[in-house]
Amino acid sequence: MGRLMLLSNKYTFISTPATPFPVSEDTPVAAIDFDNTIAKYSGWKGSDHVGKPRKNAIWALKCFKHNGWEVEIFTSRKDTEPVWSWIDYYAHGLIQRVNETRDSSEKEVKPKVDIFIDDRSEYWIGKELDWVEVMERLERRGFMPNGLLP
Ligand SMILES: [Mg+2]
Repeated sequence: MGRLMLLSNKYTFISTPATPFPVSEDTPVAAIDFDNTIAKYSGWKGSDHVGKPRKNAIWALKCFKHNGWEVEIFTSRKDTEPVWSWIDYYAHGLIQRVNETRDSSEKEVKPKVDIFIDDRSEYWIGKELDWVEVMERLERRGFMPNGLLP
């Protein structure tokens, strides 16, 4: 895919300039937040509570796979077991990692990935993250060379 360009956080995607990317020479990696980004969220109800997939989130994950991306969930949740259960149930084979690039010291909080998608980015303040808009934006910028799925 070649070298990915920095994307301004004002356009949804926050990349990590401290890390050369793509992190892997061949495989671009997307970090995606969990709560209120791919899973519905209406306030913290305990680590065992996980929301159902948000609208078009599973389609977006399939589009990433279709275009050769790996996906890592990057969440502030400490207990990732419920997240893995969610993945097994709703998104089996579509997500490769959960929080693995986070440094164990937790001093390094930025994921070492190519793009980062989070409902709390500046672009989405005051509105719901819209997966169709996210994916069409990525496609326009050349990050989905195989195109989006119908
Ligand atoms: Mg969130």
